[in-house]
Amino acid sequence: MSAENGRVGGGARGRPAPGERIVIVGAGLAGLRAAETLRRDGFTGALTMIGDESGEPYDRPPLSKQVLLGDVPAERTALPRQCEVDATWLLGTRATGLDLAARTVRLDGAADVEFDQLLIATGLRSRPWRDPAGAALDGVFSVRTSTDASRLKARLDAGPERVVVLGAGFTGSEIASACRQRGLDVTVLERGPAPLVGALGGVLGEIAADMQRAAGVDLRCGVTVEALEGDSAGRLRRVRLSDGEVITADVAVVALGALRNVEWLAGSGLGAGPRGVACDAGCRAFDINGIVTDDIFVAGDVARFPHPLYGYQLLALEHWGNAIAQAETAAHNMRCSESRRRPHLEVPAFWSHQFGVNIKSVGVPTYSDQVAIVQGSVDERRFVAAYGYRGRITAAVTFDQALWLDFYRGLIERAAPFPPEFPAVGRPSDFRPVPSAVPDPAVLSHGPTVAVTGHSPDERRVTLVSPAP
Ligand SMILES: Cc1cc2nc3c(=O)[nH]c(=O)nc-3n(C[C@H](O)[C@H](O)[C@H](O)COP(=O)(O)OP(=O)(O)OC[C@H]3O[C@@H](n4cnc5c(N)ncnc54)[C@H](O)[C@@H]3O)c2cc1C
Repeated sequence: MSAENGRVGGGARGRPAPGERIVIVGAGLAGLRAAETLRRDGFTGALTMIGDESGEPYDRPPLSKQVLLGDVPAERTALPRQCEVDATWLLGTRATGLDLAARTVRLDGAADVEFDQLLIATGLRSRPWRDPAGAALDGVFSVRTSTDASRLKARLDAGPERVVVLGAGFTGSEIASACRQRGLDVTVLERGPAPLVGALGGVLGEIAADMQRAAGVDLRCGVTVEALEGDSAGRLRRVRLSDGEVITADVAVVALGALRNVEWLAGSGLGAGPRGVACDAGCRAFDINGIVTDDIFVAGDVARFPHPLYGYQLLALEHWGNAIAQAETAAHNMRCSESRRRPHLEVPAFWSHQFGVNIKSVGVPTYSDQVAIVQGSVDERRFVAAYGYRGRITAAVTFDQALWLDFYRGLIERAAPFPPEFPAVGRPSDFRPVPSAVPDPAVLSHGPTVAVTGHSPDERRVTLVSPAP
C-alpha cells in the first residue's frame, strides 16, 4: 500500500484530468472495497483515501470474538486485499467538513482536497457512556476499534474479578460470551426484556437469554445503569443500578449501540443526521431537501437507503456484508452511465458467534409481525426461525443451521408466503406462528410488495407483486 500517513501526496498519476478525481472518506471496509472495485473496473483517474485511523483498513468482526479470546492478535486483523489500490492514502487524517459548491473536503491540519466525485464511508463509533467522569475511569471499555479490543483483551488477561457488560445487543453478548469462555465472572445488564431483542425480537431474545444463563452469565434484564463509580485512584469499583442495587466490578464494557460519523457533514447541505446519510437505492446521497445529488455517494454503516423488499423504508444496517455489497454498487454507479446504474438490492445478512452457537440472519427480522420456528429444535439450539409480515416472509434466522440460509434468502427475494407452505425438513410438531415481539412494529410502512429477480448484479431488478395496500 502506498500509504502516506497524514499528508497529501500527488499519487502515482500526476495532475488528474477534470472529472477524474474520486475521494473516499472513511478507510474502513466499505471505503477499501469501493476503492478496489473502482480500480478493478478500470478507473484510471486520481483516487484519494482519507481515514482518521492511522493503520491500514482492518476487519472489525474478530474484535469482539477471536481477539478477546486471544486466538487472533488485534494487529493481525488487516483486511485481505482483493487487488492493489493505487491511491493517495491520507491515513490518520480526519475530514472535518464538506463544501459541495467548491467540491472540496476539509481536513484537520491539512490542505483541502478537491474531488469530482465523493464516496462517504465513515461508518459508526461506539456510543460512549453518558457521564464523562464514569467513562474516563480505568476499567471502562468499549469495543469498536482494534485499539479498543487490544486494550480490553490485555485487561481480561490480567484476570479481573468481575466484568459488567452494559447492553445485550450483538456486541455486548459476544463480549460476554468471550469472557465466559475465558472463565471470567460476567454480569450483563440490559434495559430491554431480553438480549438481542432490538435485532431479533422477543421470541428469539428469550432463547438468547436462556443461552446466556446456561453459560453462567449473571443476566439482568429490565434494568438501567445509574452510574459507574470509581475509587480515589480513578479505578472502576462499582456499577450502580437504577433500582439501587450495586454490583462490585473492576471492568465494565459499554456496549450501548453506536453513533453515525456524520458530524463532519454538518452544514454541507446533505441529508445527514443521527440516523446516517440518506441515499437512493443507487447509493447517491440525498441533499437536505431530499433531492438526489449526482456525484456524492454513500456506502456502509453510515448509509440509510431505501430497500424495495422492505416497503422502501430507509434501512441503516450495521452488517459486514452490506458494507461490501453497497460499496461495490456505489463504485460501479460512480463510473457508469445512467442507464447502466445498478440498485443496491442485496438482501441484508449478518452473522454472530456467541456461547458456542453460530447465529446467522437473512432479511430484516424487525420487519415482521410474526415468527415461527420452521425447522429444528429450540431445546437443541439448532433451528431456523422464519419471520413474516402481512403474510409474506421477510427474514430468517438460523442457530447452527446456516446451510438453510440461501434457501430462505430465495424465499425472501420472491416475497414467498408466510408461514412457509413447503413441508420443511425437521419441521417441529408444534409449528405455529406467534407474534415476533419486535420493538415497534407500528413504525413499519406499508409499501408495495415486490420481488427481486435476476442473478448477476447487472440483471438484478425489482418487479411488482402487489400494489401498496
Ligand atoms: C466489534 C464488532 C463486531 C462486529 N461483528 C460483526 C459480525 O459478526 N457480523 C457482521 O455482519 N457485522 C459485524 N460488525 C459490523 C461490521 O464490522 C461493520 O458493518 C463494518 O465494519 C462497516 O464498515 P464501514 O466501512 O461502513 O465502517 P467502518 O468499518 O466503521 O469504517 C469507517 C472508517 O471511517 C473512519 N472515519 C470516521 N469518520 C471519519 C472522518 N471524519 N474522517 C476520516 N475518517 C473517518 C472510521 O474511523 C473508520 O475507520 C461488527 C462490528 C464491530 C465493531
